[in-house]
Amino acid sequence: MHVIVIGGGIGGLALAQGLRKAGVSVAVYERDSGPASRWEGYRIHIDPAGARSLRACLPENLWQAFLATCGPGGDFGFVTEGLRELVVVEESIAYPAVSDPAEGHYAADRPTLRRLLRAGLGDVVRFGAEFTRYEHTADGRVAAVFADGSRAVGDVLVGADGASSRVRRQRLPQARSVSAGAVGMAHKIWLTEEITGLVPERLLTGMNIVMVDQRCFMFTSVFTPPPGAAEALAEADGGPEPASLKRPYLLCALVAHPDVLPQGVTELTGDALARVVDTLIADWSPDLRRLLARADPESLGAISFNASEPVPAWASGNVTVLGDAVHTMPPIGGLGGNTALRDARLLTRMLTAAHRGERELVPAIAAYEEQMREYGYAAVRSALAEKDQVLANTGAFGQIMLRTWFRICAKVGPLRRRTFRQGFAHSAPRAWETETPGSRENEPVTTGV
Ligand SMILES: Cc1cc2nc3c(=O)[nH]c(=O)nc-3n(C[C@H](O)[C@H](O)[C@H](O)COP(=O)(O)OP(=O)(O)OC[C@H]3O[C@@H](n4cnc5c(N)ncnc54)[C@H](O)[C@@H]3O)c2cc1C
Repeated sequence: MHVIVIGGGIGGLALAQGLRKAGVSVAVYERDSGPASRWEGYRIHIDPAGARSLRACLPENLWQAFLATCGPGGDFGFVTEGLRELVVVEESIAYPAVSDPAEGHYAADRPTLRRLLRAGLGDVVRFGAEFTRYEHTADGRVAAVFADGSRAVGDVLVGADGASSRVRRQRLPQARSVSAGAVGMAHKIWLTEEITGLVPERLLTGMNIVMVDQRCFMFTSVFTPPPGAAEALAEADGGPEPASLKRPYLLCALVAHPDVLPQGVTELTGDALARVVDTLIADWSPDLRRLLARADPESLGAISFNASEPVPAWASGNVTVLGDAVHTMPPIGGLGGNTALRDARLLTRMLTAAHRGERELVPAIAAYEEQMREYGYAAVRSALAEKDQVLANTGAFGQIMLRTWFRICAKVGPLRRRTFRQGFAHSAPRAWETETPGSRENEPVTTGV
């Protein structure tokens, strides 16, 4: 069996790693002209669902390299626009302490993660391959057609080509992705001694939300590479030691309702975008404004968030989709990449079972799609609900009430646990994820998943 994967992002590469590990032939076709042809420098939060999937899909040396290059996930704090602490939700509430690293949560550097996911796949990933459409061959296989007119034929085609997926448009024309009613404006700030002196310790730890009485909020998260991270990455893929893995940085993303933003904000970059952000946070802590003024200019960008509408069950075939291609969601809550990784693991398992003759191919894909629709659309709903909560027009009185509640939660542990525990439930293991690699992962899959 040969599997064609369109898109070498987080989900597509994890699938390729999983399939290769299981001995299934795979090729990834990526539109980018090369590994570092596009800037993508922010931190990404990997929750236990993502970590579990990485451990299952990656060979042991790359899984160890992942652990060696990640920073701590950290606690989750809520602060005022004056950067006064309201409540800090400890890691133990979000992700109960476990000894298994695959049940942990991590701050990963996105370019590092993609480099690790590409490691060892030099003969599998083809860059500069822009997919345009697919067609079925006379013998029921599937051919991908690329912009340069070339074709690639396989037994299965997987669309892992992100939010604007062409595979999805052809495979599921009924699927719609609509505006989520939020725009994110991201900044990456390298943390020097001078800069760390500007903000309170809380902002230099884990993840935080700056809450305000407006239809916007700021998400911050720090990435602190552990000692030896650059060396571990270089050893894992034989590439250079990246300077970017030797110093910490802060991601600050201002998320706002489109109503409070000027028209065409997503077209802005550099100084023009910085001015929009500075106007929005004019009444916030002057130190925070100074901090944002020091952002890496290359990092400044605004993205309009979209969300997939759930699609009722469709008739399965040998073309399927994973990740943002089928369940795009606003990154509020950090579920999109983790859900793409979950898809990669489940689809690896199903395709491996078909490859080994333990299941028919199309029913195996159908079993993947059934589960994926359930947890994937649940993640979209959860991200939208969180977005509605944090962008709600609470008004001054509502904001006072909320802050008072958060301050009470800060003092009363059981209340804090009760209030925030549910927010992280998405990453709890599903039945098919509880087996450790080496147990059912490598055994015949004959029923269910
Ligand atoms: C600012 C920001 C912060 C985020 N933070 C988090 C986080 O902390 N945690 C989390 O879980 N998620 C996070 N996300 C979401 C996460 O990045 C996505 O959900 C994830 O990247 C989806 O993975 P994917 O493989 O499905 O798609 P992508 O990563 O988008 O990969 C798709 C790939 O397909 C390629 N492609 C597209 N079209 C074609 C074509 N026609 N032919 C060939 N190749 C093509 C693209 O070049 C790309 O490489 C964040 C998103 C943003 C924007």
